[in-house]
Amino acid sequence: MNKKLIVGNWKMNPTTLDEAQKIARKIKRIAPTLTSTEVVIAPPYPFMTSCGGRGIMKHFHLGSQSVSIQIDSGPFTGEVSAPMLKDIGVEYVIIGHSEQRARGESDATVSVKTKIVLDAGLVPVVCVGEISRDETGAYLDVLKEQIKNSLADIAQKFAADIVLAYEPVWAIGAPEPMKNEDIHESSIFVKKVFSDIFGPDAGIKVKILYGGSVNYRNAPDIISIGKVDGLLVGRESVNAPGFVELLKAVDNIDR
Ligand code: PEP
Repeated sequence: MNKKLIVGNWKMNPTTLDEAQKIARKIKRIAPTLTSTEVVIAPPYPFMTSCGGRGIMKHFHLGSQSVSIQIDSGPFTGEVSAPMLKDIGVEYVIIGHSEQRARGESDATVSVKTKIVLDAGLVPVVCVGEISRDETGAYLDVLKEQIKNSLADIAQKFAADIVLAYEPVWAIGAPEPMKNEDIHESSIFVKKVFSDIFGPDAGIKVKILYGGSVNYRNAPDIISIGKVDGLLVGRESVNAPGFVELLKAVDNIDR
């Protein structure tokens, strides 16, 4: 079965290890009951191993919010490499999040990081999305270029291992998500661009997540009307009761 994929991006939250472990414990309790949903949590680096490192997580996966462009260990202060992440049990890596892009991460860097992550045997969750929309649809060209450039270094053989997270920047941290019908339209567009790069078969198979102001109330419709394969969840992923409800609601959807 093609399971729905829910990725919780904790960003720089919560402040303490104690709070982080409380959230992780609640997710650990619900995850084994889910039958059609895969859960990934991406806590900040200091909390990763105690929230879900190697050997502790059986029913959910550990994600990283970022990765270094450096592969080999060495004098790179503040950096964390893909092999290090793999060693502690990370399986998914979020790359090109708009908050990283806003701090200067270019499409070219996203592409190199995606290649590094794939080479390490991890799954990249590559974030793409327009900053704003315009009446003439020029944002579609911007989005297309962003996707192409962010995957420029990726060999065809890796196409099936990539997850794309469509996150319109204007809908992140907003009061409301994008409209469900628009999510559907955009996910088709993103798939089309992906198939232009890697071929129609890859375009049909690629997993598209939606991200931007998802919560437990709107998540089921985003999946069923927006017709996406899963969600990248920010704020609601550190609100343990809301995230648990979101997982239950998503798991109950028949697709
Ligand atoms: C995000 O930052 O990826 C995100 C989707 O955030 P939020 O759910 O809080 O809008």
